[in-house]
Parts: sequence; C-alpha cells; structure tokens
Amino acid sequence: MPYLFEPPSCPTLPILGRDALFPVRRIFCVGRNYAEHAREMGAHDQANGLEPPFFFTKPGDALIGGLGELAVHYPPMTGNLHHEVEMVAALGAGGADVSTDQALSLVAAYGVGLDLTRRDLQAQAKAKGHPWDMGKGFDQSAVCGALQLVEEIGHPDHGEIWLKVNGEVRQRGDLGDMGWKVADIVSNLSRLVCLAPGDLIYTGTPAGVGPLLRGDRLEAGVAGLAELRAHIV
Ligand code: MN
Repeated sequence: MPYLFEPPSCPTLPILGRDALFPVRRIFCVGRNYAEHAREMGAHDQANGLEPPFFFTKPGDALIGGLGELAVHYPPMTGNLHHEVEMVAALGAGGADVSTDQALSLVAAYGVGLDLTRRDLQAQAKAKGHPWDMGKGFDQSAVCGALQLVEEIGHPDHGEIWLKVNGEVRQRGDLGDMGWKVADIVSNLSRLVCLAPGDLIYTGTPAGVGPLLRGDRLEAGVAGLAELRAHIV
C-alpha cells in the first residue's frame, strides 16, 4: 500500500573512518548523573545504589549532527538556552532486561554531544510537576559529533569531559565521576523499554552548565574522542 505522504528520512550520524552512516532511532538522556551538576541544579546528594537513574527523551529528529562545525539555531520560546556537554553512547544492538555484565556489548560507538536545554521552560515544568519535553526535546536540541566505533576506541570510562564557549572553559569534569556508568545506564534503561539498534543515550553532564547566545562558538570534548564544534545562529 502506498504511503499517504513521503515517510520521513531516518536521522543519521557519520562514523569517523567509515563510509557507513549510523541510523538514529530514539534519543534517551540520563538526568543528574554527575553529583556536582546535580547540586548546581538544586538537588540534594543522591543516594546512588539506592535510587535508579532517571531518564527523559528527545525525538530522534531533534538530532543535529555531523562532521565539521555545526550551525545550531537558537530555539524559539526561551531566553535561557543552556549547554550540557555529554558523552553519547550509540547502540548497535538491542534488548530488554540486559544485565550490567552484558550491557556494554550493546554499545557500538561513542560521540560527543550537547543536551541543549530551554532551562526556563524546564524550570517552569519542574515547578508545576509538568513533563520536561518542551524544555528538553525541541528541534535541534540533540547535538552530536561524528561517532567512533568501540572496536577502535573501546569504552571510555575515565578522562576529561569539557566544553568551551568562545574559547573560555565553561564545563570540565571527568567521566570517572559519572554516578551511573554506561553499563548501569544501559541495563537500567533496558528494564524500562526494549532497547534497539540506533538508540542514542546521552549519559549526563558535569557541572558548569550555563546560557548560550546567538553567535557563540562552542568546542566540546571527551577524552579519546574527536572534538565537537558548533556555533549558535
Ligand atoms: Mn543532560
């Protein structure tokens, strides 16, 4: 049967050193995964090991990614767009109820991403007990650089994660300070949904989140991964 209209094309990310593209399915994000960032957001010290990680999502087509410097549009309906630099895990396999021992086998690649946030809308939603979607899941809210395959870079679990705006360091942390490690995150998420190849997981941001303005130039990095570059238009 024909479609009523042309079905949307699949969002993709390039893979460094490969001709193949990574087809993106869903985008999951972990909240408050670095204690220092959780504190700057007003959370009390979390009891990791007792409370499971919490997740929110962005639509797959909220992705803006690729090679070179990305031009990201300043979104409407906000006066407080925030940067959150995050390591992104890209799944090449899926599954439900995956054990932490098996979880890393689902991850095919990693990249450097930005979980862009309309902080004012998120704060309003929090205050009212409303969903975060419009604060977190807007167009071009999921920025991601080219992916690098696990077979080439392994599973990064320590080393610097940082972000500069106009050459000035705004965020700096260490992957080793992630409250929930990638294996924990994948395992926990696989109990909530059946994970699938193409799913991206943003693994949380270190402290130092702050506002962006049109014209800002961003550089971001995670130890062992190619840097991400973007500017706000
Ligand atoms: Mn985030």
